[in-house]
Amino acid sequence: MEISEIEVDGYENVVRCLDDTTGLHAIIAVHDTTLGPALGGMRMLPYVSEDEALFDVLRLSRGMTYKSAVAETGLGGGKSVVIGDPAKLKAPPLFRAMGRFIDSLEGRYITAEDMNIGIRDLELVRETTRWVTGLSRESGSSGNPSPYTARGCFQGMRAVLEEIDGSASFRGRRFVMQGVGAVGGALAVLLKQAGAHVIISDINEKRVRELCSQHGFEAVPDEVHVGVECDVFVPCARGAGINDETIPKLRCKAVAGCANNQLLEPRHAEVLRDAGIIYAPDYVINAGGIINVSVELLPGGYDEDVAIRRIDRIYDQLKLVFKIAREEDITTRDAAARLAERRLAEGRRGTGH
Ligand code: NAD
Repeated sequence: MEISEIEVDGYENVVRCLDDTTGLHAIIAVHDTTLGPALGGMRMLPYVSEDEALFDVLRLSRGMTYKSAVAETGLGGGKSVVIGDPAKLKAPPLFRAMGRFIDSLEGRYITAEDMNIGIRDLELVRETTRWVTGLSRESGSSGNPSPYTARGCFQGMRAVLEEIDGSASFRGRRFVMQGVGAVGGALAVLLKQAGAHVIISDINEKRVRELCSQHGFEAVPDEVHVGVECDVFVPCARGAGINDETIPKLRCKAVAGCANNQLLEPRHAEVLRDAGIIYAPDYVINAGGIINVSVELLPGGYDEDVAIRRIDRIYDQLKLVFKIAREEDITTRDAAARLAERRLAEGRRGTGH
């Protein structure tokens, strides 16, 4: 196994691993550990080049620093990518080799699930390094993050409603859900239980039918859901759904949901603001999963009550983001970044970084 450093400005450690025996070609980026060890998922994709993989891991690890700083998880930001086709390359020796690679960073990087990496893969990684989170609840780990992400989004939604008109009441408010998978489905149930009128949409029609018959949601076809009048449009599917094509169609007062990278480009935060639509920055409102995982690393180990108390603070973090945006006359996207940078600066002063 050959491990080599890639020098990248603004990143603490970027390391590449090549292992002929198992075919492992991977990169780990540790962006910033000012606030704690760098935690972020491992993804496996058939990148066309190492440069493409490097671009992805740098962007994602930096995003994790900001996400954890705002969520106050006590963690820094990192990420890892395994280059290759999961269908062809996944094998126990490869994941054990990945574990040894992670172990070489001696806890500065801690891994978790991400695209094309599941709990069974992480269990193999765990055989050769202890720096793995998000394994099964039975193994003392924090388990499936989706219900916790949904809970965090729900708490954040209270701040969004208050931002609309001062009231956090869900009763009678209309929510249009774009995607009702693991997180969106759970969030839709929480919203309905709180008295909201929930309108769901998903490209998976079977899933929509099942949820409607179980919970009595209204459904709208995927082709028209963006233009349905509502209080909150809730992206819970893929990224980049908020763009020049969709924003003019939106008939909502706010956009808030769990999907990652909702804005196609950063400038779409301004386009939303100009259209009078409140935007809850995705990485602030969808931090429930990472907060849940971070509790595993506390001295006493995972404790669900502690996790829930911390997840519910997403409400406070969003209130703060909205306040900064108002006071400094900037978009909520910029306000979230400013909050993260302030916390990092405070951390640097405290730790002498
Ligand atoms: P999922 O795969 O369980 O659900 C996604 C759902 O969106 C599926 O039902 C799918 O059919 C639907 N969908 C896909 N494209 C669509 C489209 N164009 N229009 C409407 N529906 C569409 O995934 P998930 O775990 O619920 O995650 C949803 C989003 O939240 C993703 O962007 C994910 O990165 C993000 N996220 C998830 C977590 C978590 O804890 N699972 C944490 C943070 C962020």
